[in-house]
Amino acid sequence: MKISRISAYRVDLPLKEGPYNWSGGNTVSVFDSTIVRIDTDSGLSGYGEVCPLGPAYLPAYAEGARAGIAELGPQLLGLDPTCLGVLNRVMDAHLKGHPYVKAPIDIACWDILGQAAGLSVCELLGGRWGPDFVLYRAISQQSPHAMAESVAKHMDSGYTRFQLKVGGDPAEDIERIRLVADVLAPEHRLVADANTGWLMHDAMRVVNSVGDVDVYIEQPCLSYGECLSVRRHTRHPFVLDESIDSIDALLRASADRAMDVVNLKISKLGGLTKARQARDLCVELGIAMTIEDTWGGDHATAAIAHLAHSTPPQFLFTSTDFNSYVTVSTAEDPPQRRGGRLSAPTSPGLGLRPLPGALGDPVLVAG
Ligand code: MG
Repeated sequence: MKISRISAYRVDLPLKEGPYNWSGGNTVSVFDSTIVRIDTDSGLSGYGEVCPLGPAYLPAYAEGARAGIAELGPQLLGLDPTCLGVLNRVMDAHLKGHPYVKAPIDIACWDILGQAAGLSVCELLGGRWGPDFVLYRAISQQSPHAMAESVAKHMDSGYTRFQLKVGGDPAEDIERIRLVADVLAPEHRLVADANTGWLMHDAMRVVNSVGDVDVYIEQPCLSYGECLSVRRHTRHPFVLDESIDSIDALLRASADRAMDVVNLKISKLGGLTKARQARDLCVELGIAMTIEDTWGGDHATAAIAHLAHSTPPQFLFTSTDFNSYVTVSTAEDPPQRRGGRLSAPTSPGLGLRPLPGALGDPVLVAG
């Protein structure tokens, strides 16, 4: 089988609940997502999605994804999409870095491999664990009272794990954590994600002030070294996210005992092939995971679901159903949350049928 054409589509994803805010005054109202379609000489086609969280979250931005796909796409024509090891080596040889550019291409090829094999991507990634897996709900940064109300509302719809966007004014963040903790039950899990927004002294004030609260602290500061310093001075369970963007970073952080949980985002690592490597390594190292991506719609949610559902449950801290946050659908049969849980599609490949007309015309085509 050979890749005969690579097309990219731009899809705008407005948010149901209005602007999504996180540290540093960052906000997004409409996500700019890119869906890659790969066609083959066998007649099979596969899809993959990348949706950066705006241009200021990671070294990634929406136009950059499309520019990178335009650069890389022509180099991949004629390759066998089912040979994912070869494909990834060729992508890395032709374009240094830029893992988020490679992610939708890699995911589309997993979709094709699954269809060719008659197996879901979840099965190819190691096999399905149980009927479904646990989700968290991200709570946009607002006033402490508004965030507590948002948590209560989403608790009513079945979510049991919540990630608060903090990383703002430390005094207000302390209030956010306390007010939300007050509405939770003991079986719930609470994460305060600063998204690199605190300096070390801010972070220390917050963690000291909520020492009696059952809360995980995620990526308090910008650099790995700053986060490690906070980690070594707090008893709270600790999550690293933005700092862990490679196997090398993961191994270093594991050796330093720098985290209890790691947030693995598929596009941050370069696709399902590399995210799976990181996932399997975490299982061996005893590190629990949040498995997700930066954002996206139905296609990104399906890719996340396949990786999350093939992860041993005791290692899966949480995952995400991003397609429930947005107003636009790109697939006829997307994975849909039941209560606070989700399951990966069971039909071959990613298991999605693209919604006719949802993608519009391609914004670039190679081949
Ligand atoms: Mg995070």
